[in-house]
Amino acid sequence: MASAGAAWRSDPLPGSDGEPAIEGIGLTRFAASRCAHWHSELDVLALQSPCCGKFYACASCHDECEDHPLQPWPADTPLDTEAQMCGVCRERISILAYINGPDPPACPNPRCRAPMNPGCKLHWPLYFSRELIAKAQAAGSPKPPPQTAASPRKL
Ligand SMILES: [Zn+2]
Ligand SMILES: [Zn+2]
Ligand SMILES: [Zn+2]
Repeated sequence: MASAGAAWRSDPLPGSDGEPAIEGIGLTRFAASRCAHWHSELDVLALQSPCCGKFYACASCHDECEDHPLQPWPADTPLDTEAQMCGVCRERISILAYINGPDPPACPNPRCRAPMNPGCKLHWPLYFSRELIAKAQAAGSPKPPPQTAASPRKL
């Protein structure tokens, strides 16, 4: 069954400075992680897939481009895993920061602040196990690390 989206399948949007590329369908047509499925002004968030490690514009892009179904991040995923990326500025966003982000959601990079689609929340279970969502919500917003703890931030 040919879908109109398949004709728009494009090269990934390359990352700069070692940032990962964003993959999907129709990306070069809409840019900034907007794809054939989700391409409003607000659809700029890319999500990393734990199954293959790639950043995709959306779950449908993943499933149309890969030969395996998208796996949600499992319950034991560290909450500081930077599994989201802003398609506008390429800022990586941790699961904790994303789940507990502002409402309506926006890019946390102060130089970007791109507004993001509040409707993505409806699809969280595609991307995160329900246990992981509950764990992140229970943990609350990310706090700065205590002075004593030697926990270098992963760049
Ligand atoms: Zn995958
Ligand atoms: Zn898509
Ligand atoms: Zn941004």
